[in-house]
Amino acid sequence: MEKLRVNEQRLWLTHVEMGKIGALPNGGCCRLALSDEDKMGRDLFIRWSREAGCEIRIDAAGNIFARRPGLDNSLPAVATGSHLDTQPHAGLYDGIYGVLAGLEVFRTLNDAGIETQAPLENIVWTNEECVRFSPPTSGSMVFTEQLGIAELHQAKTTDGTTVGQDLQRLGYLGDHITMASHKIGCFIEAHIEQGPILEQQNKTIGAVTGIQGARMFEVRVTGQDNHAGTTPMPLRRDALTGATRMVLWLNELVADQGDDIRLTIGRFNVSPNSASTVPGAVTFQIDLRHPQMTVLNALEDRIRMGLAEKARQAGLGLTIKDICAFAPVAFDGALVAMIEAQAVASGYSVMRMLSGAAHDAGNLAALVPTAMIFVPCEKGISHNEAERATPGDLAAGANVLLYTMLSRAG
Ligand SMILES: [Zn+2]
Repeated sequence: MEKLRVNEQRLWLTHVEMGKIGALPNGGCCRLALSDEDKMGRDLFIRWSREAGCEIRIDAAGNIFARRPGLDNSLPAVATGSHLDTQPHAGLYDGIYGVLAGLEVFRTLNDAGIETQAPLENIVWTNEECVRFSPPTSGSMVFTEQLGIAELHQAKTTDGTTVGQDLQRLGYLGDHITMASHKIGCFIEAHIEQGPILEQQNKTIGAVTGIQGARMFEVRVTGQDNHAGTTPMPLRRDALTGATRMVLWLNELVADQGDDIRLTIGRFNVSPNSASTVPGAVTFQIDLRHPQMTVLNALEDRIRMGLAEKARQAGLGLTIKDICAFAPVAFDGALVAMIEAQAVASGYSVMRMLSGAAHDAGNLAALVPTAMIFVPCEKGISHNEAERATPGDLAAGANVLLYTMLSRAG
């Protein structure tokens, strides 16, 4: 008998179809969390899942649980899924691949008439990307009780609404569900790598062993607004000059910290941002990542001390606010080994690797056996309309997901 395989063409076409929602001029798409486009994507996902025989449940965070019943529905579900929301200039694969790969697994099982012992679930987590509101991965944080539902509902969006109002408006405000009441047995998330390693190593499947730790800080540097024409240079308290020195110093600081360190200042706001006023305040954000907690701790200490010293030297004020912190995550060893074995059994090249990006799977890992399956993306480009993945690689990841879920669900 020929080995069961997902339908590569069908999986590809669902990406194309979903990519039409929020389509952008250069081939990408934009579905910001809880926007009208996100709702259209959710509605389409639910229609497809119902057609594939799934029961749909929506929780108070707007997470969608598409459940394919098993023979014994008292067993905890074998779960997969990812996110539908995107960055502003996104490609067609980040997040949505994990959701559509789960759907393709269900469709393939339906075509083959296969029933599993345990139920299967495909979950869409709300707001992985953190564009319109914080924190990132908020849906899976609520489900795993790392974020209170009231706190999420009160969170302000960049459009001035609250998350609770948006959920209500879009018709995606369900009952509060956590892992305590909604049992899942394990979670396996498929995702494009969003980095260049698989392509460089010429491997098709990444068996992801964990996620590096991340911390975000908001730094506010304060000086004094003043007239550009009348204020002599030595008398200025120019927050912008001070802040740019800090940015350069931060990059120098991490330059000799090894290959695993990641430091990014991607947001920088100048006040009053007026051409003829000495800038009185600057706010910027630091995104710091490393696989080891000890390194993160040591670096955070050096950054806090170093920035305070720079501010003092320049006669500027300084405050540093914690935005969020994610501890390094280790995935379940048995599940990682299973993914590796299923990749080999399906004839794919495979390597173990760490995820540089944060994912919903990181939140699940503390509570249930969790792992991720990566597939290559061209040149490692992501969060960009130029994000590309091949139909064959997407299908390969879905096949590994299929067999890993089958082996867990019986
Ligand atoms: Zn993602």
